[in-house]
Amino acid sequence: MILWQQAITGLKNITSHPEDNIRLFFSPGRVNVLGEHIDYNGGWVMPCAIDKGIYAAVRLHDEPLIRIISQSHNEPCIIPLKKEIVSADFTGWQRYPAGVIFEINRLVKISQGFDAYVVSNLPEGSGLSSSAALEALIGKIVLHTSSIHTISDRQLALLCKQAENDFVGVQCGIMDQYAVIFGKANALMLLDCENIEHEWVPFESYPYRLLVIDTQKPRTLAGSAYNERKMQCDKALEQLQRIKPLQNLCEAELTDLQHLDNYTLIKRARHVITENKRVLFARNSLLQGQFIHLGELMYQSHASLRNDYEVSCKELDAIVDFTRQHEAGLGARMTGAGFGGCAIALVHEKGLERYKEQLQKFYFYQTGTACLIFEVQPSQGVHEYIPA
Ligand code: ADP
Ligand code: MG
Repeated sequence: MILWQQAITGLKNITSHPEDNIRLFFSPGRVNVLGEHIDYNGGWVMPCAIDKGIYAAVRLHDEPLIRIISQSHNEPCIIPLKKEIVSADFTGWQRYPAGVIFEINRLVKISQGFDAYVVSNLPEGSGLSSSAALEALIGKIVLHTSSIHTISDRQLALLCKQAENDFVGVQCGIMDQYAVIFGKANALMLLDCENIEHEWVPFESYPYRLLVIDTQKPRTLAGSAYNERKMQCDKALEQLQRIKPLQNLCEAELTDLQHLDNYTLIKRARHVITENKRVLFARNSLLQGQFIHLGELMYQSHASLRNDYEVSCKELDAIVDFTRQHEAGLGARMTGAGFGGCAIALVHEKGLERYKEQLQKFYFYQTGTACLIFEVQPSQGVHEYIPA
């Protein structure tokens, strides 16, 4: 409620109109429970939208422009509707909304202008996908305010991804945008990133809680290393396609790895192949309510990301190692691209307070900085909020 209020107040401060006709939108972040660095390799991932995200207050106007103000950034983002939208006219955070509006505009001409004020409780650049949350938020606002019914949620996810690839220059896969658009309460999404289809796996985790632990370490390497990993996977796939017909790297078998010409590619592909299989094991575990097995798969995933994919860091490793030896810890792993950002942990509610307290101390002792710990719930995807 406080965040809605802040968004409404922020909007009122930038426009001179009375309080009426304000519309409210929310877009969540996401955690990926299993299946890391898999989406751009065409395999299975298991994310969920969470109950933290970006709140927007919106008011339509008659000017031919979209004006977005973010509480966390000084520069506004102003997108003209009567001129061509080109990425060179935008910098930093402005590229996310501008990219989405550019992509929608290619399909359906947007003529309705609006002001939006956005407020967020999602850490930016921490691996909880604030970028996809912002893209989906702007996309949803445009589709609702312009009454565009011809663009489905699936298309919206695809065009948000396109915006991030082309306008921002991050070669991300489809998972983040898809998860924040389609999210649902009490369930994890099992998403097939090759065919872009999903099913739901119930996530009634009681007595375990899903925690996010933010290392608060800036992910300086994340962008370049992310694109480098993607290139290495593309190269591994290309080499394997010379010996067998594969649509994507996740279809390869461990026995195929002998055909790769260097050890780095072998390690990258080994992570991709084993991680994809872990997601399918996790699905079966969850359907049978076996959270202990899910926890073990999370630990295995982290080891593979640390040793084979080499995208972890000492801060993330410290959180995972701590959870493994704690009596209330069931599983933990890094989530998101890596090199800092966030870890997730499944923790028994009985030892929850002790776990949090001891982890804070342990983390500070190991790294000299504090970590942030908060609980998340699988939640509804981006939507217009209509107050009762
Ligand atoms: P992640 O998606 O894991 O949070 P990214 O580096 O992909 O990390 O995206 C973070 C970027 O998204 C920020 O640097 C900023 O440009 C943009 N962003 C996210 N949330 C907001 C917000 N509330 N207001 C403005 N820009 C935002
Ligand atoms: Mg992102």
